[in-house]
Amino acid sequence: MRILIAEDDLTSRAMLAAVLRKGGHEIVEASNGAEAWQVLQQPDAPKIAIIDWIMPEMDGMDLICRVRSLPTDRPPYLIMLTSKGEKADIIAGLDAGANDYLRKPFDAGELRARVNVGFRMVEMQTALIESREALAFQATHDPLTGMYNRRAILDHLHRQLAHAHRHGEVLAVGICDIDHFKKVNDTYGHQTGDDVLCGLTTMLKASLRVEDAIGRMGGEEFLVVATIKEESDVLPLFSRIRTHVAETPLATRSGALSITLSVGVAVAHTNSTVDSLLERGDLALYQAKNQGRNRVVVAPAPPSAAQSGSEPVWA
Ligand code: GH3
Ligand code: MG
Ligand code: MG
Ligand code: MG
Repeated sequence: MRILIAEDDLTSRAMLAAVLRKGGHEIVEASNGAEAWQVLQQPDAPKIAIIDWIMPEMDGMDLICRVRSLPTDRPPYLIMLTSKGEKADIIAGLDAGANDYLRKPFDAGELRARVNVGFRMVEMQTALIESREALAFQATHDPLTGMYNRRAILDHLHRQLAHAHRHGEVLAVGICDIDHFKKVNDTYGHQTGDDVLCGLTTMLKASLRVEDAIGRMGGEEFLVVATIKEESDVLPLFSRIRTHVAETPLATRSGALSITLSVGVAVAHTNSTVDSLLERGDLALYQAKNQGRNRVVVAPAPPSAAQSGSEPVWA
């Protein structure tokens, strides 16, 4: 593990470094507090720092306060070095955010032991953060396809809708449902069906821009949330996706399979809510299925926003 030693006294710094290098650690040296502060602000800064109390330019106390004010969920483990050793100083250092302290002159065995405590704390912190991140991912993603799950895509839609209302952007949702998917399962088995679902999401992702989002609403139904320039771009966008899916067989364990999509699209208007958008999208999807599948139907504008003669369009 990399360890920062912030110590202005050359002899003391060299002794600390020698003991820790012997223990297999990589040492980064700073000869004053300001230098150490530069190092500790870097994204790849050492996770353990040994900080002398009295240093020129910036003392250890000031350095510890600054490090603790940095917004991070992976704070470094700070060991304060003090030649004073008085209770009041130790209390002040710990109160400022030091994790531990070491009295000068230091004992090599004690130094190694205290650094090892820090090492274990850093490891535990990393493991906790990783498991928290894994849980957050599991809570928001569909385990089969790795796409957003229903809750996460709806959260995303809530945020994007608010953003679109604020900035006058055009927001479209497309409910994409695989046609006759039950037949795939019935003919080739559930696992091949799963391959189709995974292959489709990869294809959808590749057809969209990074700022657009896809989520699995359930079963073989996916929601695409896209911000577009002009309302007139909506039909071409989803038609392009539909055509691409229809023309590109998906690799599965049962060989290459072709599928088609029916897509119900709704564009947000001033009064649109997430519920009203989904309702209009669902209705448009229902029409796409009724009109023969493998098509895109764009829902008409809601009554309050409708221009005269606005009818659903399909392609
Ligand atoms: P339509 O064209 O009307 O949409 O017909 P469909 O067969 O696609 O629709 P239906 O709702 O009748 O069937 C959906 C099927 O999706 C039934 C269900 O077994 C299957 N399904 C749902 N979730 C999964 C899954 O995670 N894996 C697999 N392989 N199949 C799934
Ligand atoms: Mg000093
Ligand atoms: Mg279906
Ligand atoms: Mg369905």
